[in-house]
Amino acid sequence: MDTFEKLSSLRLEAAFEDAEITAMPEEVPAEPNTLVRCPIGSVGGEDHPCDPVYPIYMATLPGGKRIPVLKTLLTSACERNCYYCFARAGRDTPRQTFHPEELAQAFFCMYRKGAVQGILLSSGIAGGGTRTQDRLLAVAEILRNKMEYRGYLHLKLMPGVERAQVERAMQLADRVSINLEAPTTQHLSRLAPMKQLAEELVRPLQWIEEIRRNQPPWYGWGGRWPSSTTQFVVGAAGESDLDLLHTSEYLHRRLRLSRVYFSGFAPVPGTPLENHPPVDPRRRVRLYQADFLLRDYGFSFSDFIFLPDGTLPLESDPKLLWAQTHLAEAPLEINRATFEELLRVPGIGPKSVKAILSARRCGRLRSLGDLKVLGVQIKRAAPFILLDGRQPVFQLKFW
Ligand code: SF4
Repeated sequence: MDTFEKLSSLRLEAAFEDAEITAMPEEVPAEPNTLVRCPIGSVGGEDHPCDPVYPIYMATLPGGKRIPVLKTLLTSACERNCYYCFARAGRDTPRQTFHPEELAQAFFCMYRKGAVQGILLSSGIAGGGTRTQDRLLAVAEILRNKMEYRGYLHLKLMPGVERAQVERAMQLADRVSINLEAPTTQHLSRLAPMKQLAEELVRPLQWIEEIRRNQPPWYGWGGRWPSSTTQFVVGAAGESDLDLLHTSEYLHRRLRLSRVYFSGFAPVPGTPLENHPPVDPRRRVRLYQADFLLRDYGFSFSDFIFLPDGTLPLESDPKLLWAQTHLAEAPLEINRATFEELLRVPGIGPKSVKAILSARRCGRLRSLGDLKVLGVQIKRAAPFILLDGRQPVFQLKFW
């Protein structure tokens, strides 16, 4: 099997990483990770026989730009035994391993041909976390220093990574991340018995933040320190949404993580959790919505309705539930509302709030049409607002 055939064969494994998907509170896709057919066919060459479907996913970068990103593993072999994982040790499945130079060259070939504009590079653990991290760093070094690649690079940190390796990764990557998988030690033991939450997973995130705070940004890639993210597996360890959101809030507030990803559990044949039911995809969407509301919309835990088991209701998004309780009887006058009040209205996000405040300086907003051009989702907002003292009526267009 040559390099491109190996890459193509890893396309389903890559879907386990939720990173970089679009996720604004009102537009989180129910299905994560849609594979993108390689726009130039088989990048290995004209006579290349393999299926030209590679693990390429549309990604939303910090700042909103959308680009095709290759998500791949340096090796799908692993010496650990996480209960949910396709790559766990002892599972009967074909494994693929790349040499750092081989993977760097294959990616750079795809990049030069315009098939991808970035890479998310992860790995199974083979020979310990430190040695695995060295090989990941080797790919990054080759790309940055030998091939002079300047595009997007998201580098995963391995459990067991050393502080000096974290610092080097931050000098090479636009984004670094390590997956916590579960919100507490107790929950992690039900998913990944060989991983240690505080020592192996949280500590590297703390190092990232220490480095960002204590060292000047010009040591980082491109003259600034990379952003950091993590991912949880949702729905297999008995964790509640409250557990996940509390840990997520700590990560955003104390360690300044840019994103927390929620990967919905789906059972993998041949693993200890193969008979565990998959998570309802709506749960993942509600978690993203609540996480964004906590991070960017000024919401606090007391603004959410939690069921007795600590989960968010699946049927309705948390912002809509809040508005139905607080704004349905007392709609908000768009022409007088503050920044913070506007953010609470369904269908209005930070960008449209800024647009509304700016438009108000030029005159009063009188119709849903005025709001639509400012980016407001008027169908969602209409029941909770007043325009010039009157509640607007949203009418569906049938033709
Ligand atoms: S360490 Fe990573 S690759 Fe290995 S079994 Fe666990 S989740 Fe899978």
